[in-house]
Amino acid sequence: MNVLIIGNGGREHAIAWSAANSTLVETVYIAPGNDGMADLGVCLGLESTDHDALVQFAIQSDIGLVIVGPEIPLLEGLVDRFELEEIPVFGPRKEAAILEGSKSFAKELMHQYSIPTAVSKTFTEFEAAASYVRAEGAPIVIKADGLAAGKGVTVALTEEEAIGALHHILVDHGFGEAGAKVVIEEYLEGEELSLMAFVKGTTVIPLVPAQDHKRAYDGDKGPNTGGMGAYSPVPQFSDHDVEEAVRKILQPTADAMVEEGRSFTGVLYAGLMMTAHGPKVIEFNARFGDPETQVVLPRLESDLIDVMLRVLNEQPVQLKWKKEAVVGVVHASVGYPQGYAKGVVIEGIEEAAKAGLVFHAGTKQSSTNWKTNGGRVLLVAGTGETIEKAQQHAYQVSEYVTSEGLFYRKDIAHKALQSI
Ligand code: AMP
Repeated sequence: MNVLIIGNGGREHAIAWSAANSTLVETVYIAPGNDGMADLGVCLGLESTDHDALVQFAIQSDIGLVIVGPEIPLLEGLVDRFELEEIPVFGPRKEAAILEGSKSFAKELMHQYSIPTAVSKTFTEFEAAASYVRAEGAPIVIKADGLAAGKGVTVALTEEEAIGALHHILVDHGFGEAGAKVVIEEYLEGEELSLMAFVKGTTVIPLVPAQDHKRAYDGDKGPNTGGMGAYSPVPQFSDHDVEEAVRKILQPTADAMVEEGRSFTGVLYAGLMMTAHGPKVIEFNARFGDPETQVVLPRLESDLIDVMLRVLNEQPVQLKWKKEAVVGVVHASVGYPQGYAKGVVIEGIEEAAKAGLVFHAGTKQSSTNWKTNGGRVLLVAGTGETIEKAQQHAYQVSEYVTSEGLFYRKDIAHKALQSI
C-alpha cells in the first residue's frame, strides 16, 4: 500500500524511515517533507494546512494509511476530513486533539477524572491571575492555554517573573488567541519522562519511554526549546514506574476521553514529572513527540505500519522492542531558540548518515551542498548495547557534521549515566 505522512520535521523523518522499512509499504509520500527525507519517498509540494489538496491527493493516489505528525493540522480537523472520505488515518479528530490544544481543557479533564497533575487554576483577567500568584508565591508555572510552539510556558522562580509572564500573555497578547486564557500551575519537583502510547478508544498500547532535554545548553541551562536531544531507554525509572504511569495516567485519560464523547485515536503523549508522590502530568500532546520519536522508533522491532493498521482495526498488538539504546543529539542553529541565521553551509551529513542515524528537521539541499534552514536542523542518533555506548556513538557521528551555523549539547543522556 501507499502511505501519506503529513509534516516536515525530524519526527516525520523518523516516521518516514519506519514506513520505508515496512514490508507492507510500496511508496511513502510526505507532505511537504524536507530535502533530507527525499531518499525515503516522494516529498509533495503540499502544505499540511492545505486540507483539500491533501484529501484529493490521498483519494487519487490510493493511500492506505495517513499519519499526521504535527499538532496544528490535527487541531484544524484534518483527521476528520480523511475520515469523511473513509481513508484510514492515524491521529485524533479535532474534538480529541483538544487535549493538546487547550491546557485548560486537559486540566479540567484530569481534575474531573482524578488523573494526577499539578494543582492549577485558569484565568482570563490579569488582576485576578496576579493576585493568585501573589497568594501562592514562587516558584510557580505560567502557561498560555493554547498552542504556542513550546514557548508558552514560564517556570517562574520569582513572583515578578510570574507576573511579567502573565502580563505578556493577558495584557500584551504575546501569544494572540492562544493566550486568551492562562493556566497557573503548582511547580513540580522531580525528573521528567516522556511516555507515548498508541491509542484507540480505551485500548492503550504503551511505547518505551524516553527523556527529552528542553533547555538549550549543557547542564540544563539556558532557555526552554522544542528539545535539544533525547534518549531511550530511561534506566532511572523501573518497569514498575512506567506501568504505574500507564495505569494512573494514560489508561484513565483514554477512558475519560471516551466517556466525554471525544474518543482518542492516534499517539497520546504524556509529559510526566516523576515526583516523590508518583508520576504527574505536565502536558499532553495528541501526536508523536519531537525529538522523542527519533529515539523511540529506531528501537521498535515491530513493523510500524502493521501496528498502526492493527490499532485502527482493533486487532491485537504485541509490540516488540530492540534491546539496544538510542541517544539522539539535536544540532541547532546558533542563536536558537531566539533569532538565528538560515542558509549556513553544513558539511559531512552524508558521512554522518553512513556512520549512524541522521534525521533532518531544518535543512535545505542545493546542487552542491546542504544548508541550514531552521532552528532545530538535524538530530544525529547513535545506538549501542548500553546508554553509554549509544551516547559515545552519537557524539562520534556528530563530529562528522561541521558547520559554523550549528551547535549541540554535549551532555545528552547525562541523567541516565549519573544514575548508574
Ligand atoms: P510544557 O511545554 O508544558 O512541556 O512545559 C515546558 C517545560 O516546563 C517542561 O518540560 C518542564 O520542564 C517545565 N514545566 C512545565 N510545567 C511544570 C510544572 N508544573 N512544574 C515544574 N516544571 C514544569
